[in-house]
Amino acid sequence: MSLFPHPDRYQQMEYRRSGRSGIKLPAISLGLWHNFGDSTRVDNSRELLRHAFDLGITHFDLANNYGPPPGSAEENFGRILREDFRAHRDELIISTKAGYTMWQGPYGDWGSRKYLVASLDQSLKRMGLEYVDIFYHHRPDPETPLEETMRALDHVVRQGKALYAALSNYPADLAAEAIAILRDLGTPCLIHQPRYSMFERTPEQGLIQTLGDAGVGCIAFSPLAGGVLTDRYLQGIPEDSRAASGSKFLNENQLTDEKMEKVRKLNAIAQQREQKLAQMALAWVLRDERVTSVLIGASKTAQIDDAVAMLARRQFSDSELAAIDAALL
Ligand code: NDP
Repeated sequence: MSLFPHPDRYQQMEYRRSGRSGIKLPAISLGLWHNFGDSTRVDNSRELLRHAFDLGITHFDLANNYGPPPGSAEENFGRILREDFRAHRDELIISTKAGYTMWQGPYGDWGSRKYLVASLDQSLKRMGLEYVDIFYHHRPDPETPLEETMRALDHVVRQGKALYAALSNYPADLAAEAIAILRDLGTPCLIHQPRYSMFERTPEQGLIQTLGDAGVGCIAFSPLAGGVLTDRYLQGIPEDSRAASGSKFLNENQLTDEKMEKVRKLNAIAQQREQKLAQMALAWVLRDERVTSVLIGASKTAQIDDAVAMLARRQFSDSELAAIDAALL
């Protein structure tokens, strides 16, 4: 299917520099963890990608294990890329990762050079790409020497199979060590991908500072806490929602009365700001300039519209920030 992207797609998006690198990322990036596996209709996945690109979202985030089944998000993305985006490859930043269980045996998980190099080769085949723009180590490996993992990232960059190296889920102190090793190897870390939202503020306790000081970007995953920081669950659990999908990451048990009480208070603050809670939650994550991009998921194009419309209402007064802190207590 030919793609005729919107001619004004670069007008409304904001592009923010990732640390002290040459790369600017869209303030909103799209993740393919959900809604791109074999259990999803490929026409919906295609529509989400096309819609995002039309709105200036140039960054699509994947991992070897996204699906289900693992690998299928990369395969489906590869197909859509071939069919729709072939002429636009150089307008895209495509990332993938390795670090979680991908295949059986001792070489299909964690952080060895053996696993990372093989996994990236498999990812490239599934997506039909010669290189990805960003290759992440997906989570720290307590057993493999950090030097080995960072040398593997440096190696794939030197091979040309990835343009930039990156980290995800590393705590502040380990991130600092990894960033220093990569710098010494001559392959600076482009960006770090932590979980960061109103409900997960650990990165404020040192990580964001570490990244800012080191000139490394920060892309916040699950900025809507998987959909909890939206109006989705205010009236119960909709059938077509993630919480109703049998996900082990978001289910009824996590939507406690205490959490929903906070969501209601936050929703009231968002209404006073004349925006949706989802929009306020994204703007809140982006309030720190050291955060390069918010990495959202979407099951519907309207959710991407919400995120992009947020850019027009980004500022917070001190009293709004204090009200948000109070609602989260
Ligand atoms: P979010 O917190 O943005 O949650 C996305 C979900 O929220 C959507 O699927 C949708 O749920 C709901 N939603 C989105 N917008 C709206 C809206 N405007 N109104 C109502 N509901 C809305 O992010 P994810 O948890 O999906 O993670 C995003 C990406 O981050 C992943 O795809 C992946 O790329 C990355 N990630 C990285 C990890 C890592 O370890 N590095 C771990 C997890 C994610 P619904 O389906 O119910 O409609």
